[in-house]
Amino acid sequence: MADIKGFLKFRREEIGYRPVAERIQDYREVALLPSPEHTRIQTARCMDCGIPFCHWACPLGNYIPEWNELVFRNRWYKAYQLLSQTNNFPEITGRLCPAFCEYACTLEINDEAVTIRENELAIAEFAFNKGWVKSLSPSKRTGKKVAIVGSGPAGLACADILNRYGHRIVVFEKEDDFGGLLRYGVPDFKLEKWVLDRRIERLRKEGIEFLANIAVGKEIKASKLLKEFGCLVLAGGCGVSRDLKIEGRDLKGICFSIDYLKQANKLVAGEERIKDESIYAQGKRVVVIGGGDTGSDCVGVANRQGAKRVIQIELLPKPPEKRTPACPWPKYPLLLKTSSSHQEGCERYWQVLTKKFLGREGKVKKLLCAKVEIERDNLGVCRVKEIPHTEFEIEADLVILALGFLHPQREGIVEELDLELDECGNVKTNPQFMTSRKSVFACGDMRRGQSLIVWAIAEGRACAYHIDNYLRL
Ligand SMILES: Cc1cc2nc3c(=O)[nH]c(=O)nc-3n(C[C@H](O)[C@H](O)[C@H](O)COP(=O)(O)OP(=O)(O)OC[C@H]3O[C@@H](n4cnc5c(N)ncnc54)[C@H](O)[C@@H]3O)c2cc1C
Ligand code: SF4
Repeated sequence: MADIKGFLKFRREEIGYRPVAERIQDYREVALLPSPEHTRIQTARCMDCGIPFCHWACPLGNYIPEWNELVFRNRWYKAYQLLSQTNNFPEITGRLCPAFCEYACTLEINDEAVTIRENELAIAEFAFNKGWVKSLSPSKRTGKKVAIVGSGPAGLACADILNRYGHRIVVFEKEDDFGGLLRYGVPDFKLEKWVLDRRIERLRKEGIEFLANIAVGKEIKASKLLKEFGCLVLAGGCGVSRDLKIEGRDLKGICFSIDYLKQANKLVAGEERIKDESIYAQGKRVVVIGGGDTGSDCVGVANRQGAKRVIQIELLPKPPEKRTPACPWPKYPLLLKTSSSHQEGCERYWQVLTKKFLGREGKVKKLLCAKVEIERDNLGVCRVKEIPHTEFEIEADLVILALGFLHPQREGIVEELDLELDECGNVKTNPQFMTSRKSVFACGDMRRGQSLIVWAIAEGRACAYHIDNYLRL
């Protein structure tokens, strides 16, 4: 245990964000990096619980109490070694993870959780600064080859582990750069892309080959790759956005969040020309439909692009600010989140149904909305009921649909290989991550449905483990 009275002596202190007035002017990361001194004090709060619920809640099984204690004792190298045993990209989860571990921390019962995510980030960046994150190529190659389709966190984690096992790995990516949603979904103010480049560079140096601008199933047949490599991993994400098929949907200025964020991220990355002005927010009245994290990312980008004003609307009721008896510790609660982007300026409305889009000269101008009630039937299924006489309009020049993702693309690999799908339309696998097609594996959002980075890494790792067993048969 770090400090037997640490949790009594020190309060939880998050390192926090840069001031709004400053950060809104640029796309650099809004979150500040925790210093080693700050982190040591925060690790002192860890009680080294007999049953560490933080560890139980982490999809990667991170050794949280152990590395908290090591940091407290100033043994940063050992802490990094332990962290990197379970997490391939702690510098990414340290920035972006919703931290299930913190909601499960025992201190959550009647106090405030240990700052586990920030501690993880501090360890990862300390290790990079010290030069401890080395490119280590395997000493022996097995002679086996694996093709990985998709370079998001699932594909990258799978590639990393399989490469360490000694297999030859080639990652195919349809976009012009690597990282999946980390590159073209998550905005730079949450994850500056040098963080991703630094990691990919290391993977490259370790011997993984990366090929961009190749859509497998289109530019190159998946069956051809399977023949050439003998083993194929599908980590193509969950790319089909949920639509809102109502009157006026085809008006200009209505787009999916992913198209909006992709264009924005490319501009930040140096693309010179705005390809589609109709989905650039400068001077526009922006409405984001969908109250989740992707919607919040769109809010942050729209403010930086110089939107006239930003409104975010959500169909469901406003979540509670604190845990309710329906969601006791150590469960992950659905709570009201006020993100750094919300702090930067945004009106938020709940229980709002969008009934139709109204336009002029082919461009969106208004949303016709109504207030709704959510009722649960005997089976607990939610039903949306419009409240009579509550119709109202919201003016808008840009409407961003941030309604989540349905399932992976069918056209291309899934159709070509005639893969079996699960009831949600995701690629079905057996417990060893093999699809209905022999030697074809799947992991990440493509198998699990839209999820989180930490789960994508966990899936990539587990998938690699099963592939290695399979290749060694
Ligand atoms: C805007 C946004 C913000 C998010 N923020 C967070 C966050 O803060 N924290 C968090 O935990 N999660 C976040 N998520 C979710 C997280 O990004 C995903 O769960 C995660 O990236 C899934 O990883 P993946 O590797 O399975 O798929 P992806 O990241 O989607 O990567 C799949 C890759 O496969 C490529 N591909 C697809 N088909 C082909 C093909 N046929 N040939 C070649 N390449 C192909 C795609 O181009 C893509 O690069 C966010 C998601 C979005 C959309
Ligand atoms: S649950 Fe919290 S206090 Fe207990 S070991 Fe984990 S981080 Fe430390």
